[in-house]
Amino acid sequence: MIRCYLGLGANLNEPYQQLQTCLETLKQHPDITLTGYSSFYRSKPVGPQDQPDYVNAVACIETDLQPLDLLDALQAIENGQGRVRLRRWGERTLDIDILLVEDQRIDSERLTVPHVEMTNRLFVMLPLAELAPALMLADGNRVQQHAERLADQDELVIMGRPDI
Ligand code: ATP
Ligand code: MG
Ligand code: MG
Repeated sequence: MIRCYLGLGANLNEPYQQLQTCLETLKQHPDITLTGYSSFYRSKPVGPQDQPDYVNAVACIETDLQPLDLLDALQAIENGQGRVRLRRWGERTLDIDILLVEDQRIDSERLTVPHVEMTNRLFVMLPLAELAPALMLADGNRVQQHAERLADQDELVIMGRPDI
């Protein structure tokens, strides 16, 4: 089994509930084992500012799926929760990004891992630091160090953590 971290985000149609539903779907998925998830956080949008605030969290899973098959499975969950692609970084009912696949590097047309923006985003690094603060990333810094650095520039509101 391969351990992966997933970044979850939503800002339409009851976003907190969207993330909760996503985690329930991951938990029930035949090819995925949900092994952990962070608190939920409220964050300001990246990209267009004329859209609602986001709810973000990070999940930890284990799977035997190949990375591109995992991406297919996750995009099916996004689509199942009504994701419609309108504009880049625009509003959405659910976004699931593959942050890390063990310590693999993947550079294909459909998939880049580690996720290119992850260390620039407090809404990824802070929830990831709840799950894996000491995890060393490819740049030689630990997740906790990234979270502390980004926390100087940005702010998140912790919203709680539902039972799944
Ligand atoms: P960002 O990736 O900057 O957070 P986004 O999540 O809004 O932006 P999407 O519209 O969800 O972007 O995805 C666009 C494409 O990104 C997907 O169709 C997918 O093929 C590709 N992609 C590349 N790397 C990844 C990854 N690590 N996780 C998920 N999708 C990825
Ligand atoms: Mg994203
Ligand atoms: Mg995405």
